[in-house]
Amino acid sequence: MAPIRNILIVGGGTAGWLAACFLAKMLGAKADGAVQITLVESPEIGIIGVGEGTFPSIRGTLSLIGIDEARFIRECNATFKQGVRFNHWVRPAGAPGPDHYFHPFSQPSQRPGGPELLPYWLMGAAGNVPFAAAATLQKHVADMSHGPKRVTDGDFLGPLNYAYHFDAGRFAALLCTHAQTLGVRRVEATVEDVTLDGEGAIDSVVTREAGVLRGDLYIDCTGFRARLIGEALGSPFRNISDTLFVDRALAMQVPYERPDAPIPSYTISTAHEAGWTWDIGLHERRGIGYVYSSRHTSDERADEVLRGYIGKASEGRTPRLLKLNVGYRETQWVKNCVAIGLSSGFLEPLESSGIGLIEAATYLVGFLFPHDGNLAPVAKTFNAQMKARYERIVDFIKLHYCLTQRRDNAFWIENADPATIPESLRDQLAMWRARPPHRLDFVTDLEMYPPSSWQYVLYGMEFATTLHANRAALPELDAAKREFQTIAQLCHHAVKDLPPHRALVDHYLRRGEGLRRA
Ligand code: FAD
Repeated sequence: MAPIRNILIVGGGTAGWLAACFLAKMLGAKADGAVQITLVESPEIGIIGVGEGTFPSIRGTLSLIGIDEARFIRECNATFKQGVRFNHWVRPAGAPGPDHYFHPFSQPSQRPGGPELLPYWLMGAAGNVPFAAAATLQKHVADMSHGPKRVTDGDFLGPLNYAYHFDAGRFAALLCTHAQTLGVRRVEATVEDVTLDGEGAIDSVVTREAGVLRGDLYIDCTGFRARLIGEALGSPFRNISDTLFVDRALAMQVPYERPDAPIPSYTISTAHEAGWTWDIGLHERRGIGYVYSSRHTSDERADEVLRGYIGKASEGRTPRLLKLNVGYRETQWVKNCVAIGLSSGFLEPLESSGIGLIEAATYLVGFLFPHDGNLAPVAKTFNAQMKARYERIVDFIKLHYCLTQRRDNAFWIENADPATIPESLRDQLAMWRARPPHRLDFVTDLEMYPPSSWQYVLYGMEFATTLHANRAALPELDAAKREFQTIAQLCHHAVKDLPPHRALVDHYLRRGEGLRRA
């Protein structure tokens, strides 16, 4: 077993450059005798260039790799994201009353030693207020178009939990520049062949422009092509379109109607007849896309739905069509090659899991790093953990669909069919009908989404939990009612304390200007 001294990353999208930055920091690429990292990316094959919504874990990642918040916001045209608003996911079209709910990133505002709020909310202690609005300030703050932090808060800190929306192309460019300052070597070349050694491990990659390149460990970040892990090593792909149906996207960028229009600090996800649209507000434009199931609609009809959603701003613009391979590889680390990003799998971007999975995989590679060259046990551990992560995310995404009361067409009817729901999720739903989800239901180290995310979606989707078995064990009803009242009062203070979202973003852009002039 030879020690690992050289890492060769193939592919320079978000996955490749994020992995490069992360590993350069964790393994000290600049230090003498440290691991050398080379990234090869094709000058001809572009990056996918979508993926504009993130999860709060991104703040920790940016901080760890050493990119400050103002620079990130300025260079990536970024805005703040406090959660996701879901429109028309719950009820049949035309049903009376509003049909929307919010998945905020902040946890329920439970005081230390105070009552856990969910069981009391289920008993009606907050009246008719939805759980996300009753339990946190964040929904109110986001509804009022205010941001999650004050300008005086430090980098990546704020009273409310948050992530970002950003321009994916600019993000990859920023990471590329930053990785090179951390000691990563960049090679522009297209891999045309991958050779294997006698044991079936990768021996080299053969490029058109830079000849033969070798590493002790190869990281496949070639996106949907999966040039190493799929084409060369043949790691099987598990298609999950029988559970998650959407497999196409039409994406478009449009300007704001007015330059001073408020920028929503949440992704707007609106359900349609065969899928849903994302609507993401960046500083200078909106990014909008319709993700849909090709089994349930045509590309022409999808185009009409997207234009119907956008309105006048879509005129004269042609959306980009993307065909999506939905699923993942159960074995993502094979011999001396590990896949990160779209080469490892793709799940629809309903809760921004793509970049979160890249962060998780990269962190694991860095943490488990087989310095001594003993790859097999590391690969085994990595594969088990990533498979479990993917499975949990599939369950979480399916949760958004399977509780729908919509029956307008086959897409929604089939989504609620128990035969399309993973058994693990069916079991949890069966338990949660008799008691609410609890943190003990979650193996937290493997979960991308905390228990509160599941609770917000579950009760946003109007899931019914009957509490009879637990009622006697809930002695703090009056305290819980006071708690809900306090949260409602604090909402108004929070809006006074936190700046409007657009003003907050402008502040960061100006701060960036100041830094550039200095
Ligand atoms: P890519 O960006 O495709 O990069 C592949 C790289 O490999 C490129 O640099 C290319 O040049 C290189 N390459 C390929 N073949 C070769 C070769 N033979 N030789 C050399 N280089 C090669 N994620 C989120 O977290 N949030 C979202 O909101 C979100 N929305 C999405 C919406 C859609 C419609 C899609 C499809 C994905 C979305 N994702 C989202 C996922 C996200 O886009 C990806 O996880 C992320 O962009 C990482 O992509 P990647 O780096 O794996 O692949």
